[in-house]
Amino acid sequence: MTCWLAELAWLPDSGLHRNVLIEAEGDRFSAVTPEPERLPAEVTRLAGVTLPGLANAHSHAFHRALRGITQASRGTFWTWRERMYEVAGRLTPDSYLELATAVYAEMALAGISCVGEFHYLHHGPGGVPYADQNEMGRSLLQAAALAGVRISLLDTCYLSGGLGRDGSRLPLTGAQLRFGDADGDAWAARVDALGADERGRISAAARLGAAIHSVRAVPPEQTRSVTAWSHRHGAPLHVHLSEQVAENRASLAAYRRTPAEVLYDCDALGPRTSVVHATHLSERDIGLLGESRCYACFCPTTEADLADGIGPAAGLAGAGCQLTLGSDSHAVIDLLEEARRVELGERLASQQRGHFTAAELARAATVHGHASLGWPEAGEIVPGALADLVTVSLDSPRTAGAAAASELETVIFAGSAADVRHVVVGGRTVVADGQHLLLGDVPRLLTGAVGSVLA
Ligand SMILES: [Zn+2]
Repeated sequence: MTCWLAELAWLPDSGLHRNVLIEAEGDRFSAVTPEPERLPAEVTRLAGVTLPGLANAHSHAFHRALRGITQASRGTFWTWRERMYEVAGRLTPDSYLELATAVYAEMALAGISCVGEFHYLHHGPGGVPYADQNEMGRSLLQAAALAGVRISLLDTCYLSGGLGRDGSRLPLTGAQLRFGDADGDAWAARVDALGADERGRISAAARLGAAIHSVRAVPPEQTRSVTAWSHRHGAPLHVHLSEQVAENRASLAAYRRTPAEVLYDCDALGPRTSVVHATHLSERDIGLLGESRCYACFCPTTEADLADGIGPAAGLAGAGCQLTLGSDSHAVIDLLEEARRVELGERLASQQRGHFTAAELARAATVHGHASLGWPEAGEIVPGALADLVTVSLDSPRTAGAAAASELETVIFAGSAADVRHVVVGGRTVVADGQHLLLGDVPRLLTGAVGSVLA
């Protein structure tokens, strides 16, 4: 039995409570008691606001190596993509293990207890498969275990190099060759070799999900193998959707339909589907996504960094989508910033305040994010749920002076990853006093791993 006493804990439905005794047996919460009459002999005190673990619903771990360098000389989207392909071209299973371990450790320090890794860097240079054709995926699974975070490996089907302006399909070239499988069935056979059980579980802390890279990279007739695999395992299905206007234009040229319409017609939209970005949507697209009860995963710092635009978060939520959050390209890794940017982006676009409450944004960062990654038992501090906690301090320069009853608003609208002090994943303390207990000096690991990839 492990026990914590949270100065303030955010509990489902009823909001922030003072002096909450939280108990866990193994990896699950066993009791949650506000204002307990007596305390157990051994209890860890958590000063600040304690939330459920945060879910990073959209990650490409290797993009972390691009931070900073893609900003040089007022970089464009295309210079960014060229640098991204360069890094993708260099990684090996060993260097990816080293890099992803450091990146997931940075996530743990930011309060992230579960990552959804949208994984498309499958094969060796030139597209030649490794002896174990899932070797890169296994590096990511191992990295998450070393960093102490849970992972949903969203193995991504990526078959063509995009669509031309006239709608023609472009072949994979250069580093993209490493992303490809022969077709949807070959993708499914490779993913089956990862050895997940019938529910998609690989271990207690890892599960498998499916992803369609985008309608640019997977022809509609090839999506069936991916959606069928996801149905067989009750597994999440993620897809990039309408991130840039050019993608919509190419989809209309190739299929005479928007990307959302293409996915709807392929039966790829449903309550286990997450559409990532969902930036440039028609009213009909929003209706289709809402009616399908998809998750809409917003990655506002990446969308700002890549000049994608501001997606219709309020429109999607109003239509029936649950919102989730991702740090995607890792321009920064800070789920609190992603959360507030959903509201702030909506304010900039509409010139009106008050679209989402701090509690709604916190639910996007926690319970909805975990559910979208196939962990519906995570993301709430309740008995029976996975015992994940993240404590954000109220004594940093950013959060000090939080008024009573507005501490959650302070954390969501002014807190940052640097204010995360304590992180528990599945009952195990991974971060204490801002230090990663399993890996120690995370900045040194990042310096080494990024340095060797860029060298
Ligand atoms: Zn992405």
